[in-house]
Amino acid sequence: MATAADLEGVPPLIAQLIRNIRVQVTLEDAELMKRTDVKELRLFFDALSSGQAERKTYEDILKHIHDRRDGASREDAAKRAKEDAERKAKEDAERRAREASEKLAAERKEKEDRERKAKEEAAKQAEAAAKLAEEARAREAALEAKRKAAEEEARIKRRVGKCAHCNDWIEDKDFLENGDMKLHNKCLEAWQRSNCSKCVQCKQPILDDFVEVTAGDGGDQGTTVELHPDCVDPYKIANRPKCAQCGNVIMENSRMKLGANFYHNACAPKK
Ligand SMILES: [Zn+2]
Ligand SMILES: [Zn+2]
Ligand SMILES: [Zn+2]
Repeated sequence: MATAADLEGVPPLIAQLIRNIRVQVTLEDAELMKRTDVKELRLFFDALSSGQAERKTYEDILKHIHDRRDGASREDAAKRAKEDAERKAKEDAERRAREASEKLAAERKEKEDRERKAKEEAAKQAEAAAKLAEEARAREAALEAKRKAAEEEARIKRRVGKCAHCNDWIEDKDFLENGDMKLHNKCLEAWQRSNCSKCVQCKQPILDDFVEVTAGDGGDQGTTVELHPDCVDPYKIANRPKCAQCGNVIMENSRMKLGANFYHNACAPKK
């Protein structure tokens, strides 16, 4: 029950009414009365002026404030329900957004997985293709090595000996042979250059015909030199003595010598 202290703050007119009819006011009703605006209680004044009993008026006031409370709580409930509905709608919207974003993420992940797998598969296939190509190359190389070995063996079988000029093996069908000596066709000229006798006049090798003539001024009968036929005259002109009579070089083998002088047979002084 509310004490006199608990009625502190209740609108004075209502407090007066309570005192008049000596009712026991519950703490809750006292609180409701304190929170009720006096102006709202026109009902109270109207009742008093219309001669309605004070107890009935009090009951009307109670009913009014109870209705008001219930209305308020109904309003609260409606507000709460609305808020609940709004919150739920918001939560639903958030959940839907979350689910949509999760679905999107899942789809993206699935797509990425698919792409990654495709890439891995492509890499694997490329690797397999590279391996096959490598194996093919290895087979080819093995065949080539075998072919080269066979060729080499055939060449060794074809060898007829070493070239006297370049010292390489002669594997050609055509080659030159002279006794034990063999030569590549291509090496003949070079071999001749380094091995044939050379013309003492022009210093070039003598590959064909040559002429043997007495060396120097023709005085030493035992010594001869080899010359190209065309080089004989120039050699003699350069080396043979001049005729003391006519002044021309003595080209003939037969000549006259008197003291230190040489003469053409025809130019020699008559005895
Ligand atoms: Zn050779
Ligand atoms: Zn010559
Ligand atoms: Zn002469």
